[in-house]
Parts: sequence; C-alpha cells; structure tokens
Amino acid sequence: MQALPTYDDVAAAARRIEGHAHRTPVMSSATLTAETGAEFFFKCENFQRVGAFKFRGAFNALSRFDAKQKKAGVIAFSSGNHAQAIALSARLLGMPAAIVMPSDAPAGKLAATRGYGAEVVTYDRYGDDRDAIGKRLAEERGATLIPPYDHPDILAGQGTAAKELFEEVGPLDALFVCMGGGGLLSGCALAARALSPACQVFGVEPEAGNDGQQSFRAGHVIRIATPKTIADGAQTQAPGAITFAVIRKTVDDILTVSDAELVEGMRFFASRMKMVVEPTGCLGYAGARKIADQFRGGRIGVIISGGNVDLDRFCALTQGSV
Ligand SMILES: *Cc1c(COP(=O)(O)O)cnc(C)c1O
Repeated sequence: MQALPTYDDVAAAARRIEGHAHRTPVMSSATLTAETGAEFFFKCENFQRVGAFKFRGAFNALSRFDAKQKKAGVIAFSSGNHAQAIALSARLLGMPAAIVMPSDAPAGKLAATRGYGAEVVTYDRYGDDRDAIGKRLAEERGATLIPPYDHPDILAGQGTAAKELFEEVGPLDALFVCMGGGGLLSGCALAARALSPACQVFGVEPEAGNDGQQSFRAGHVIRIATPKTIADGAQTQAPGAITFAVIRKTVDDILTVSDAELVEGMRFFASRMKMVVEPTGCLGYAGARKIADQFRGGRIGVIISGGNVDLDRFCALTQGSV
C-alpha cells in the first residue's frame, strides 16, 4: 500500500481550497455549557458550499488533476452531498463531471446536481450494476473516478475543517466527528494529532450502522449489511481501507448513538442555535452529549457535518412522526 496521508497533506489541501471553500463559522452555546459544565465549539459545515464539508475534499481532489485528466473530466457515484460537491468543484475548475445516480433518487437531488452543470447518468438500483456502469464510463471517456471517502486527497481535504477549528479556538480536550466511510474523521484526526496532540478524538456512528466501531475494536475492516437509520450520510457498510488505516493510528474511540438521540440533536440545533442540521450532521453532538461528563470544565469541539435535509422531512423528524 502507498504511504498513508499525513498532516502535511491536510495543510497542502488547505492552501488549495483557500478562497474557494468557505471558512465556516465556529459557534458556542451558553445553554449547553450551563447544562454540561464543558465549553462547546461547533464547527458549522452546514454553512459550507453545497451545505456540507464534502466540498473541501472534492475541490482538493479535482484541483490536483493534470491537464489530460481535466480534459476528460471526473466521474462520481453518489446520490448525496458528494455528488453535489464534485459537480460544483468541476464547474469551478472548468472540467466535465458525470454523476452516476439511481433513477429513483429524489427529484430535488437530481435537479440540484444538474443545476451545478454536471451530466447525470441514472441507473436502476435493483437491476443494473452500478460499478460496471461507472467503470465503462471511465474507460470510454478516460475520465477519473473520485470516490466519496477512500482517497488520500478526499480525506486530506476533509481534515481542513478541523484544522480551521483548532486555528480558531486553540487546543481542545476532545473532538467529536461523525463517521460514515471515515473520510471526515481520518482527516480531522490528522489535524488534531498535529495541532492539539493531547486532544482525544472520537468518531460517532449510528447504533444500527456501527461498522466503524466493530472494525476499530477488531483491528481490521468489518463489513455489515446496509444499516437502517435516519443518518443517511452514514449508511456505509464498511470504512475505507485508507481511512481505516489512518483512523486506527489517530482516533481514541468510536461511539454510537440512537436515531432518537439524533432527533434530539436536530431539535437542539433548531431551537437553541437557530440552525437546520441534517440527521447525520448531529452525530458528533449526540456522541459528545453522551460522554460530556468526562470533560467537565474542559473544552469540546464538534464538527457539524451538513445541513441538507428536505424541509418536510425535517419537520416530520423533529415532530416525532417518522
Ligand atoms: C458524507 C457525510 C458524512 C460521512 O462522512 P465520511 O467521510 O463518509 O465519514 C457525514 N455527514 C454528512 C452531512 C455527509 O455528507
């Protein structure tokens, strides 16, 4: 295997995305400090371009393409935030993008991806082989496939979120980061180890989808069935090979939270902090609440990963009717 990414790669990514990605705000909550006795710092990637941190990794990866790759363009599979991040980054960098999405993806998501100028190639989720379609497209066009998390430039880009957080607030006692395939967690953990070495780093997953926790405890990648959870950004079946190798070396533990705890998080962010956060975006907060007792008097960082949720779904979830 090639050498694993390091903090130097995160720092290089920060230089590439500067002026293109937003430097998102860091917010605190007096209510939460009063309740927990710990100071909380929320890095608000719900305010990032396309509404999630995924723009960081996508823009970093695409800005490293050479002239030939740029001409042939990029291919991605995703129905979620990665698709939109790749589509927007490709447009900004002046290259074609084809996004492979299931034909039954929400109409809003298909339209948003096309709105960023990407070609959408649909497939039948039940009949077609998605990987074969992507491979064929890549071969026909000579285009480069960029995966959503298991890629060194993706995870280095995602780590710039934590780099900015530490630069703004200084050292922390604990950092809580949501985990799907582990791109955000591995990149942020590299930043923590370099900028705040004593900071404990926790990944947080949905209870039903604890592939990362199982893998972390076993010491090798464990694959599970697609989990049922409202955290649709963390419905991965296994961590990536590269992300997991970094996580094993840099993360202290992986916690899990229930869907009910995520809903409590959505309600907290909406009512107390006036923010719309998607279910997956609440994982870090919910994990921090669980073990905040251990950090009384301390300083806790939380990455809010994204805010993309349909208003109707947001209302249904926060009113307990889902
Ligand atoms: C992709 C995504 C995640 C999971 O990120 P990984 O890098 O796959 O671990 C979490 N939250 C949101 C909002 C996402 O879009």
